[in-house]
Amino acid sequence: MAKISMAQGAGGERMQEFIREFVLQELDHDFGEIPLSLLDDAAIVDGIAFTTDSYTVKPIFFPGGDIGSLAVAGTVNDLAVMGAAPVALSCAMIIQEGFSSDDLHKIMRSMNSTSKKAGVRIVTGDTKVVEKQAVDGIFINTSGIGRRYEHLDGNIARIREHRPFKWNWPNDSAVAPGDILIASGSIGNHGVAILSSREGYGFETSVKSDAAPLNHMISAALEVGGVCAMKDPTRGGLSNLLNEWADKSHVGLRVREEDIPMDGPVITACEMLGIDPLEIGNEGKVIMAVVPSMAEEVLKTVRAFPEGKKAKIIGEATEDVSGVMMETHTGGKRVVEPPIGDPVPRIC
Ligand code: MG
Repeated sequence: MAKISMAQGAGGERMQEFIREFVLQELDHDFGEIPLSLLDDAAIVDGIAFTTDSYTVKPIFFPGGDIGSLAVAGTVNDLAVMGAAPVALSCAMIIQEGFSSDDLHKIMRSMNSTSKKAGVRIVTGDTKVVEKQAVDGIFINTSGIGRRYEHLDGNIARIREHRPFKWNWPNDSAVAPGDILIASGSIGNHGVAILSSREGYGFETSVKSDAAPLNHMISAALEVGGVCAMKDPTRGGLSNLLNEWADKSHVGLRVREEDIPMDGPVITACEMLGIDPLEIGNEGKVIMAVVPSMAEEVLKTVRAFPEGKKAKIIGEATEDVSGVMMETHTGGKRVVEPPIGDPVPRIC
């Protein structure tokens, strides 16, 4: 009898198969302006952006954040990348009997301060406490609703000055040849920070998680205009994101290795662990696809924010390649395959 495996929840190819088999095959999925079937970061229903995410990160406290800051930032970012201002969140917790009340206070305070940073409120929730072995410490689910940014119309008008654009929202299926790809900062920090604080890995690093709400920076980019698609490279990392865009938008993507921002300690840690930094998760980064004539101005705007100061143009969408192609440091070409599973499970 087939059983569910870790890889099916890991954000790579196996999870895409899982979604086709258990979600798209079993649920009616064509409701809304951005329906479930598009498998985007949030759905758009009656003009409202709506998203949900469960957080099972291990350990719950890690350099640069904790499960609480992650649960707020992750859901806020999934709304913002659709072009929606986060309005309100829910918080549902499943807690193991015997969990430390000091730790729970810490987590709740962290949720509150991250919410304040994002300018969103937690307005409803649910708590279940279960016996030991039924859950590992604490799991948190946050759902969020978002309102269309007022300047999203202007953003889309700027795209249409340059090319046809049939969408009313930026989304994964809207990337077209010529679009410039911008990464808002260095890649791989969250995954490495989680691993370094995990028992059994035994390596020291100064790398901190990048977990942060990005809605203010994203709003400013939309105000400049010309942003066709945005996505946060969480599970499966940059590799998965680029492959999802190439697949959903039916377009080739070319990136240059030397332009992908990466911190030295992240490269060192990944080499030591034998993992590909492009395949590990980030929680405070966004990739944008922007029409060429607006790209420099969007980049400048993103760089003005502390969380975007290392932003760079990393490549472009093109008809010249199929799938995702990377020009390597050494001048070669490498196909960037979608990860099968996540090399680092339970990072979010
Ligand atoms: Mg996302």
